[in-house]
Amino acid sequence: MEVISIFDIFKIGVGPSSSHTLGPWRAAQNFSSSLGNLNFDKIEIRLYGSLSKTGKGHAAGKAVQLGLLDYDPETIPTDKIHDILEELKSKRKITIQNNTFSFDAEKHIVFTNKKKPGHPNTIKFKVYLKRKLIKETTYYSVGGGFVTQKGKKQKNNIKKIPFPIQNGSELKNHIEKSSLSISEIIWANETALRPKKEVKEKIELLFSTMKNTILNGVTIGGVLPGGLNVVRRSKVLFESLSKTPVKTWEDLEIAIYSKTWDFNEINQWVSCFAMAVNEENAAMGRIVTAPTNGAAGVIPSVLLYYYFFCKHQFENDIERFFLVAGEIASLFKKGATLSAAMGGCQAEIGVSSAMAAGALTNVMGGTYEQVLMASEIAMEHHLGLTCDPIGGLVQIPCIERNTMGAIKAITASNLALSFDPANSKVDLDTVIKTMWDTAKSMDSRYKETAEGGLAFNISVTLPEC
Ligand code: SF4
Repeated sequence: MEVISIFDIFKIGVGPSSSHTLGPWRAAQNFSSSLGNLNFDKIEIRLYGSLSKTGKGHAAGKAVQLGLLDYDPETIPTDKIHDILEELKSKRKITIQNNTFSFDAEKHIVFTNKKKPGHPNTIKFKVYLKRKLIKETTYYSVGGGFVTQKGKKQKNNIKKIPFPIQNGSELKNHIEKSSLSISEIIWANETALRPKKEVKEKIELLFSTMKNTILNGVTIGGVLPGGLNVVRRSKVLFESLSKTPVKTWEDLEIAIYSKTWDFNEINQWVSCFAMAVNEENAAMGRIVTAPTNGAAGVIPSVLLYYYFFCKHQFENDIERFFLVAGEIASLFKKGATLSAAMGGCQAEIGVSSAMAAGALTNVMGGTYEQVLMASEIAMEHHLGLTCDPIGGLVQIPCIERNTMGAIKAITASNLALSFDPANSKVDLDTVIKTMWDTAKSMDSRYKETAEGGLAFNISVTLPEC
């Protein structure tokens, strides 16, 4: 049984993709540090499967270079990324672990367009000395920024946690046998892995990062990079809702609390928050993976929907929201996948919507059965959702799709809070299994390859952009 902390699910990083940017970045960092004192004079990186097909649009090559240069996605100043990469390009030399040698990303990072057995997102690093191969390592970017290394066993913390959870029914059993609530069970597991103070601080940092991402999104206009010429819309939407210009988060709070909003306006706020995050994501801005980067707008927009527009019932509601959302994502990772290359967009937007639905239901005072029911409903109505990003960029349909995931989460939560889960015919574990069955039978064109759906029908216009 795998132990997944909520901080494995929620990770501060850089857009646009968790599996195609964050994963290769972490793999490159790991490979670089594994080289130690080794002498070498050449490096070659090969990307396979979905990583090669949509890797360019998802900035996988840039991420690899930044990882090799030992920048961390959590702390790199995102406004410096362009300059760092330009400098590397113009120097045509790289220094890795005290070895300096010629490097040309166009030549040494190879998008193979081939499949490799193991995982559709495979990346291989090789180093040479005097043309002789001296070390090679293969990594799999398995979704949500998680990376595994071929032939290496993962650490398992199972003995440390009081409530091991593999699926929804085990979570239910723990709640029924103990006198604890759903968020207390998850809290007990998290605080068995790290001190309470650290858990609280990390959650606060996640929330403040999400707020900053939204603030950036609603204040930066213009066109997104990548060649599709997609116009950023969250700023326009923000300005149509709030007539007051904002510079800080406090300004934004004042603007929102300045009046009572009707249903339609609240709906627009939710879309505005979701698009703000995913426009930042598409522009290689700082975001929180939740559970992936392409779907990173759903959780913050539903959380802010609660924060600004719902009655607050608990002192520690933000904490509870993150705990429940993170645990639900881990149920999907254990029972199905968080990787669009394995399961299409149901694994990204579908899972983020299920996370948000359950978390919202929890802070709205729902029972644990209603929490699980809300997650089940949200996923039920994302089953079969394909991944077909136009031009391999995380822009269309991704940015708008986050607004849909958020609204479905809110609807799912409202449905669950209105009915008795005892009458529900489908449980969360069944919908997770169904998602995985659907993933396995989904045509590979719809699994983050940009070879099917909208990507297929619109791709011909791209060279003109
Ligand atoms: S279509 Fe969905 S899964 Fe595919 S890149 Fe966009 S958000 Fe991610």
